[in-house]
Amino acid sequence: MREIIHLSTGQCGNQIGAAFWETICGEHGLDPNGNYHGVDDIQKSRLSVYFNEANHGKYVPRAVLVDLEPGTIDNVRSSAYGNLFRPDNLIYGQSSAGNVWAKGHYTEGAELVDSVLEVVRREAEGCDSLQGFQITHSLGGGTGSGMGTLLITKMREEFPDRMMATFSVLPSPKVSDTVVEPYNATLSIHQLVENSDETFCIDNEALYDICVRTLKLAQPSYKDLNHLVSSVMSGVTTSLRYPGQLNSDLRKLAVNLVPFPRLHFFMVGYAPLTSIGSQSFRSLSVPELTQQMFDAKNMMAAADPRKGRYLTVAAFFRGKVSVKEVEDEMHKVQTKNSDYFVEWIPNNVQSAVCSVAPKDLEMAATFVGNSTSIQEIFRRVGDQFSAMFRKKAFLHWYTSEGMDEMEFVEAESNMNDLVSEYQQYQDGHDADEELDYADEAPLEDMVEE
Ligand code: GDP
Repeated sequence: MREIIHLSTGQCGNQIGAAFWETICGEHGLDPNGNYHGVDDIQKSRLSVYFNEANHGKYVPRAVLVDLEPGTIDNVRSSAYGNLFRPDNLIYGQSSAGNVWAKGHYTEGAELVDSVLEVVRREAEGCDSLQGFQITHSLGGGTGSGMGTLLITKMREEFPDRMMATFSVLPSPKVSDTVVEPYNATLSIHQLVENSDETFCIDNEALYDICVRTLKLAQPSYKDLNHLVSSVMSGVTTSLRYPGQLNSDLRKLAVNLVPFPRLHFFMVGYAPLTSIGSQSFRSLSVPELTQQMFDAKNMMAAADPRKGRYLTVAAFFRGKVSVKEVEDEMHKVQTKNSDYFVEWIPNNVQSAVCSVAPKDLEMAATFVGNSTSIQEIFRRVGDQFSAMFRKKAFLHWYTSEGMDEMEFVEAESNMNDLVSEYQQYQDGHDADEELDYADEAPLEDMVEE
């Protein structure tokens, strides 16, 4: 079996991590203690991807929970699913990163990192054939972002040929009012560009908008936001957790979705969108699911795909859906909207069908798109970063932890480069070609040609 090791880091990382584990336990017929009560063998046929099987038939998440302060992990431990996790995989400090990336990455986090790696190593040794890692974290805080990216770098060094996937929550002023979040997020993205193989971008701005506009929740809580996150995480891991051919492991998924190594930041979407406890009052048809999953309103990134082009797309349909109908509908979307898909990657849209629906729904669809429009969220965070950095505001919180201002300069420019790379592929020609032309011919000549 190809196992995955999961890491939750920081408050957000642990909260969305807990929601993920609860959701997939429900789907696979595991009770809060990890005992199997499923009704269909398909539920347990690939349990070993995410769970270790303990002696007495109990399934234990291959999860490591990390934080610099005890509060969030305490909450997880005392929740209904608290018994699920292996107690010595919960690792926390008694300090805090205080929303400063430098504390997570260079000081407080660096002190705790070895004890985390020890547990990761022990989990990896227990695997038959480890495919890689997935980490849940926010980019706006201090622990998940600073220490989370430190862990990613360290794990990369130790397991260079394993896949690294991240579920990364981008900050939004609509949800949090900590002013330094754009700093933390930009410093993290600088790391993720080099050290993650696939990053599922979960944008709090979009989650908030979905809660308010679509689900009509007046004041959404993290629980409401995380309900959306757990649906989409369950959706994108469907092909890893159930039998099937397409995108059946993290590497295959990356091979299909990532045409250039730096451009591995995915927009994710889901249909139907529901709030906690509410059930869809009627099932959607395959055409409706398809239409909704491509709709900007269903995307969990505040970016409009119609302003960019898709390099690649993977869609996951679940429930009793006809494979033929899915293929036909997906084909229709592409032919009707061909301008929105780059023409130089043939067959860049792939869809998989899994017969097991998520809990409480008859059918659902999850969307993963590598869209050039994702640059919108990097621009948004980048603008907030630059406004403060121009004045060197709040820098002393970072330099006093030993950080060099140069790292801010490099992070800013790496993110700007990322934005221009997306822009260049959106415009239809690649970066190298454009540079070559620029050397050879004056602009007017090119326009005439
Ligand atoms: P850390 O514990 O130092 O990693 O800090 P946090 O994870 O609290 O980071 C703060 C950022 O995470 C802010 O942008 C918050 O809006 C966001 N955040 C915190 N908790 C949650 C959560 O449970 N769900 C979501 N979606 N975002 C969260």
